[in-house]
Amino acid sequence: MKENVLIIGSGPAAWTAAIYAARAALNPLVFEGAVTAENQEAGTLPMGQLSRTTEVENYPGFPTGNKIGAYIESALDSDRYSYLLPNEGDCITGPELIELMRKQATNFGTRILGEDIVHVDFSARPLRVTDSSGEVYEGASVIIATGASARYLGLPSEEAYKNRGVSACAVCDGALPRFRNKAVAVVGGGDSAVEEADYLAKFADKVYLIHRRDELRASKTMAQRAKRHPKIEILWNRVPEEILGNDENGVTGIKLKSTVGEEPLTLEVTGVFLAIGHTPNTKFLNGALELTEKGFIKRTVPFRTNTSVPGVFVAGDVADDYYKQAITAAGSGCMAALDAERYLAALEE
Ligand code: NAP
Repeated sequence: MKENVLIIGSGPAAWTAAIYAARAALNPLVFEGAVTAENQEAGTLPMGQLSRTTEVENYPGFPTGNKIGAYIESALDSDRYSYLLPNEGDCITGPELIELMRKQATNFGTRILGEDIVHVDFSARPLRVTDSSGEVYEGASVIIATGASARYLGLPSEEAYKNRGVSACAVCDGALPRFRNKAVAVVGGGDSAVEEADYLAKFADKVYLIHRRDELRASKTMAQRAKRHPKIEILWNRVPEEILGNDENGVTGIKLKSTVGEEPLTLEVTGVFLAIGHTPNTKFLNGALELTEKGFIKRTVPFRTNTSVPGVFVAGDVADDYYKQAITAAGSGCMAALDAERYLAALEE
């Protein structure tokens, strides 16, 4: 059966595209991705980056200051609510926000498959996508919203201690016993690095924030948070040279080199958290769409979501190396659905 719109992804861009497409009676089919060990390793589990963050204070419509837990519990189906940690604070969290978006999409009849798309064929009509079991789906249009995943430094020692002290997700791993009341390191100088450091400081005794320059890239508010935090120490002009450890204990330390010619420095830490940006998830496209120099999907019409193939539209971080916010991803998901709707209407005419 040929679908009107196939949507690949499960972050804010994908769910917003689904909400708009469903309300336009296009009966969208979303491939939200599968929960697999490979996806865990690659940072491409379903529900995207929001599902791996903590409080979200800047998404419009969810001001802090009110107890939000009761609302979340009442809004979500119990099978989805049961995955979430109880919210005893006054601020919505990333996992809650993305679950609400998913729920809003299903309320309008969006169909969801827990599958990864591993291959596409955009060379003919209808457009075809193939899931990991080999099942082929046909669509008159496709919206790609596969997001981006955490980057690693590429050190052999980093690879050796992945999941034994090396992580790219403080929210996923920070509460593990190996980090509690110990010293840990966070690498990076952006908002994610500060957020991770702040989160880890709830469990760890000490958090070293290691940045390659002498100024944080993070927003002023976030940077102040790191600078004022009694447990966070910022080490300027440093990059990891080697992650130290052994088979028995995993990570035991980190060796840092200076970017300004100072002596190397070794820290005793039980964890190293990478927060050095993201890589767009485009591997499954295998050349089917044009990419930018930085590897993001190229938008071919200014202020639109068109790609190099007619009928294929793009939304969210997989095409955004600049804004990278939940709200901008959601906005572009809306745009992609409207673009797809207009494309389909023109086909009918
Ligand atoms: P980012 O802003 O791109 O920052 C990446 C950081 O890693 C930069 O400080 C960069 O250093 C450093 N870095 C990159 N490659 C490195 C390497 N090989 N070795 C050492 N350091 C390296 O990424 P992000 O922090 O993940 O943030 C992405 C987007 O999400 C941003 O737009 C951010 O505002 C947003 N975000 C917002 C929130 C929030 O508002 N609560 C939370 C998280 C993320 P340089 O500075 O020298 O380039």
